[in-house]
Amino acid sequence: MHVAKRLEQIGAYLFADLDRKQEQLKAKGVDVISLSVGDPDLPTPAHIVDALTEGARDPRSHRYPSYVGEKDFRSTVAAWFRKRFGVSLDPDTEVLALIGSKEGLAHLPWAIVDPGDVVLVPDPGYPIYRSSTILADGVPHPVPLLRERGFLPDLSAIPQEIARRAKVLFLNYPNNPTAATASMEFLTEAVEFARRHDILLAHDNAYSEITYDGYVAPSILEVDGAKDVAIELHSLSKTYCMTGWRIGFAVGSAAAVGALGRIKTNIDSGIFRAVQRAGVAAMAGPQDGVTERLRVYQARRDRVTKALRSIGWEVPDIKATIYVWLPVPGGMTSAQFTSAVLEKTGVLVTPGTGYGAHGEGYVRLSLTIGDTRLDEALGRLVDAFGRVSAPPAGSRATTR
Ligand code: PLP
Repeated sequence: MHVAKRLEQIGAYLFADLDRKQEQLKAKGVDVISLSVGDPDLPTPAHIVDALTEGARDPRSHRYPSYVGEKDFRSTVAAWFRKRFGVSLDPDTEVLALIGSKEGLAHLPWAIVDPGDVVLVPDPGYPIYRSSTILADGVPHPVPLLRERGFLPDLSAIPQEIARRAKVLFLNYPNNPTAATASMEFLTEAVEFARRHDILLAHDNAYSEITYDGYVAPSILEVDGAKDVAIELHSLSKTYCMTGWRIGFAVGSAAAVGALGRIKTNIDSGIFRAVQRAGVAAMAGPQDGVTERLRVYQARRDRVTKALRSIGWEVPDIKATIYVWLPVPGGMTSAQFTSAVLEKTGVLVTPGTGYGAHGEGYVRLSLTIGDTRLDEALGRLVDAFGRVSAPPAGSRATTR
C-alpha cells in the first residue's frame, strides 16, 4: 500500500512513541511511572457526568448534532467568556464548538493556508501547530522561544520576507511546554504584528484556567481590535478534567471562525449532543471544583520544586499549566537525560526536543499523576541523582 509522503514529514506523534516505550518497559517488568503526558488524573466532576447521562437518555441526542455546536453550548461559551474575560461574543458568528481544541488546531491551517504559505510556529511548541501546517501543504517556520526572553518570541526578529509569506502565527500562553505566561503588553504587540502583516493570530489558550499564586491569564481577545485578526482556541479538557470527552471551542474573528466551521461541516458532524450538554453543565455550573483542583496541582508543583531543587536541579518558578520545563542538568542532551532517567529510575519524562529543536537542553515533567506515585517518582529521582549532583545535607542519597 502507498502511504502519503506527508506522513513521513510529520512522523509519529510524540506521545504515541512514548506510550510504546512505556509499554515495552512494562512488559519487561519495570514499574514505570510516567510524568510524561499532561492528562489530569482527577475525575470529571459528578454534576458534569450527570449531565452527560441525562443527555445520553434524551433521544434528541441520538441524531446528528449541529455542525457548529448547539446554540445552548455556544451561548454558554459566550456567557462564560464575558464573565471571565469581559469580552462579548456573538454566539452565532464568533463561537464554534470543537471536538477538543486539538481538532480545531489541526484543521485551522486547511481553512487559512494555501500550499507554500508560511505558518509561524513556536519552537518549542505543542506539536500540532507544525504537523497541521504540513498536512495543509504549508511551510512551518519555527519561531524560537528562548529562556532569556521569558519564552516569548521575538517578533521583530522574524525576517520581512517570512512575515510577508506568513498566513498564521500560532501562540500559546500559558505555554506548553515551557509553562511561560504572556503579559497584555506582549499580546498587544502580537496583535499589532498580525495586523501589520495581515496574518491570522491563532492563540491556543488551553491552559487559561490552570494558574497559581493569584495569577489570572488573559485572553488575546482582551486586546483592542484583536477580533479583527485573532482566533482563540479553548479546551474543557484540563479545566474540568474532561480530556477523554473531546470538547473545546474556538472564538474570535468571525471570518476565521466561519472558515474553520466550513472545513468542519465538510469533514465531521459535530460533537455528541450529550457531551455538549455536559460542557454546558461544566461552564455554567459551580466552579469551586476548578479552584480545588488548582490547589492539588499547586501542592504537587511545590513538592516537585522542593524535591528537585534539593538535588541541585534548576526548577523555574511556575505560575501556570501542569508542566515543569526543566533545564537538563549536567550538560546532557534531552534524549540522553530522558534515557538516563528512565534507565535509573523507571520514571518517564518527555524530552524537550519532542517540541522542536529549541527544546534541546530541557525535559518536561507533568503534574497529572496521583500524589503517592508522584512522591514515589520524586523519591526515585532524588535517590538516583542526588548522589551525582552533590545533594545538600539532609536529602536522601541511598538507593531504594
Ligand atoms: N493545546 C495545548 C497547548 C495542549 O497542551 C493541548 C493538550 O495537551 C491541547 C491544545 C489539546 O487539548 P484538547 O484536549 O482540547 O484537544
